[in-house]
Amino acid sequence: MRCPFCGNIDTQVKDSRPAEDHVSIRRRRFCPACGGRFTTYERVQLRDLVVIKSNGRREDFDRDKLERSIRIALQKRPIEPERMDQMISGIVRRLESMGETDIPSKLIGEIVMEALARIDTVAYVRFASVYKNFQAADDFDKFVSELRPETPARK
Ligand SMILES: [Zn+2]
Repeated sequence: MRCPFCGNIDTQVKDSRPAEDHVSIRRRRFCPACGGRFTTYERVQLRDLVVIKSNGRREDFDRDKLERSIRIALQKRPIEPERMDQMISGIVRRLESMGETDIPSKLIGEIVMEALARIDTVAYVRFASVYKNFQAADDFDKFVSELRPETPARK
């Protein structure tokens, strides 16, 4: 960290502790070149994700938008709001940890479907039907029949 007084880049950390808000770390620094003391705050920076739409357009990732589409899918389903928030946070963390800032919208849709499938089948089908933009009822039936391959066929 460059010294704000003399520009020396070789400064020392004397002390690190969580700031009162507990979302940042306060570091007291000392510059051996000029004797200057200063404080820095370090906080988590969520990576700026960019969504690449199927038409090739780029759009900043918008958590609210993701949340709205998931909320619609989960409407009137017996899912606790906390559970939904956890799911959304999990999706966002997954996107952020992929090591790429540019993420195809298709991939986001797939991750959301995967997450919904785990908590509520109805919500999953709703989301998928919008997401996959089914043109024909046949496609939709086929999709639903493929939904739970692990379920044994009823006799
Ligand atoms: Zn200095």
